[in-house]
Amino acid sequence: MSIFERLRFPVIFGLLKEQRRRRLRTQPFPEKWLATIKRNVLFSRRLPPNDQGELLGHVQVFLGEKRFEGCGGLQLTDEVCLTIASQACLLLLHRETDYFPHLLTILVYPSTYMVDETRHVEGPLWSEGKTARLGETGRRLGTLVLAWDAAKSGAADPCDGKNVVLHEFAHQLDYENGTEDGAPLLATRAQQLSWQRVMRIEFASLRAAEETGVPTLLDIYGATNPAEFFAVCVEAFFERPRALRARHPRLYAELQTYFRQDPALFSAEAEK
Ligand SMILES: [Zn+2]
Repeated sequence: MSIFERLRFPVIFGLLKEQRRRRLRTQPFPEKWLATIKRNVLFSRRLPPNDQGELLGHVQVFLGEKRFEGCGGLQLTDEVCLTIASQACLLLLHRETDYFPHLLTILVYPSTYMVDETRHVEGPLWSEGKTARLGETGRRLGTLVLAWDAAKSGAADPCDGKNVVLHEFAHQLDYENGTEDGAPLLATRAQQLSWQRVMRIEFASLRAAEETGVPTLLDIYGATNPAEFFAVCVEAFFERPRALRARHPRLYAELQTYFRQDPALFSAEAEK
């Protein structure tokens, strides 16, 4: 293959992919599916009309490109796929997106599932045992795992600060720059520097709160490492945007610039 052909094929592939996605986005959205999303995913009712339309288009592409598998006896239904896809696609609105390119398959368990885990205790000490999980994903796995009951209850309460679907898909955004470092793909060097500066300070502050036991708005699990910090920030950004903006204005501003969204405008948070 000549250099010219090598250069040409990715371009053609990219164009075909975009054409296919445009077709998926513009095909009619089944009324039954829309009713399921409106019933299960509360934030979808509050989005501005244009964003609702964009969300449904992204959901069509998502369902056309990702594979769902039921595990542990879970029977996959439209409701399962739509509830998960529509929450994940909230993270894609307003941005140029490649639809979570590292992700191929979503595995769904009925409820909390158990995994074998080796944990570092202290010094040379490690413990082995089973731990319960609601969800997980990994940079090289191509899969994302979710507990259906947690995915469903997260969608039903859009402002309790917790959402396992947003959390796990935030990890997928983190992978888009090729590393798992708590920073998504940022457009400019200036954005990267600003992101690093703000996140470093906010992460250090959460770690300090973990040590002193001071109550925090952000889930203290975010103190684990920068990748988990980003994932819990994304949960707070969409679920507790007004509180996050008030208590962590610089953090909110970084997330707002990246996501090109201002969830404080459509959140149900203040009405709780
Ligand atoms: Zn995580």
